[in-house]
Amino acid sequence: MEHTLTDRMKIGISACMYGAKVRYNAKGWDMLGYLKRERANFLWTPVCPEVMSGMGVPRPPIKLVGGNGIDFWDGGAQIKNRHGRNVSSMMRAGAKACMETLERADVDAYIFMEGSPSCGVYRTTLKNQRLGKPPGVFGALLLKKEIFLIPAADLQSPVKWWDWRRRLTAFTWLKRRDIDTVSDLFEIWHTLKFLCQEIDEKSSRELGHRIASFSKVTSLQEINRIRIEILELLRRPSDAKRVKQWLWKNYTHLKKIHGVEVEKVCPPETLRNMTHIAEEMLAVELEARREEKLFGSSPIDYRPSR
Ligand code: SF4
Repeated sequence: MEHTLTDRMKIGISACMYGAKVRYNAKGWDMLGYLKRERANFLWTPVCPEVMSGMGVPRPPIKLVGGNGIDFWDGGAQIKNRHGRNVSSMMRAGAKACMETLERADVDAYIFMEGSPSCGVYRTTLKNQRLGKPPGVFGALLLKKEIFLIPAADLQSPVKWWDWRRRLTAFTWLKRRDIDTVSDLFEIWHTLKFLCQEIDEKSSRELGHRIASFSKVTSLQEINRIRIEILELLRRPSDAKRVKQWLWKNYTHLKKIHGVEVEKVCPPETLRNMTHIAEEMLAVELEARREEKLFGSSPIDYRPSR
């Protein structure tokens, strides 16, 4: 089975994180600057639901009232601006227009501005996490789609970006694959299981048992349900501690079974900074690719053709 993704990945991004000065106070940040030359590996589609709503820049800040973004789409919550004006219908139109754009662009992922009542996914306020009502209005639409989600602030950390990038690659690889038979599914699971176990060991073990019980008569519908569950698992947030521990676990496996050695890699108890850990990850990834061995922490290679 081919473990390389060569089609360029397409990523939507909150326009204010792409450098467009579209926030309510006419500010914006170029978060892609943190990716340096790597930004050229992706095709970008910046969108701003609040601008597309017609509210303009600058504008009074808005907030969710009466529930979260999911309640908003069910009619149980509203969006109001600082002056108390109900701008729900404008917001609905803006969010739908942006989603239509992302669908036309056929994006694989979306980089969102966390803390926004529109684009936020896990937080809808920047000031006090407990005050928010996540997800935001646009965040609720994003969660419903097969779109990989990355908080823009994580682009600043080389370790967090490495973590998101390798999982996005695995997610997109799986999303674009045709799975016609149970043996296709077995091969896919063999490739992705270590990464899935790292993200959520318990759910992955359960998934593994279910997959192992499949036979030639298992329906395509059942196979597809598993595919959706793996995709869902791959896009869940992780944390740097777990990433570090599993890097060591998968690296020692690689060394023992395939003799792949990288001097730079330290055991988890060694104190070192995040930049060093990111360098270790990249070094093992590179060496495993060179030796053409499966590296459980980063199983799919991304080499976009130019
Ligand atoms: S967070 Fe979303 S809605 Fe708010 S300015 Fe940025 S892109 Fe626009």
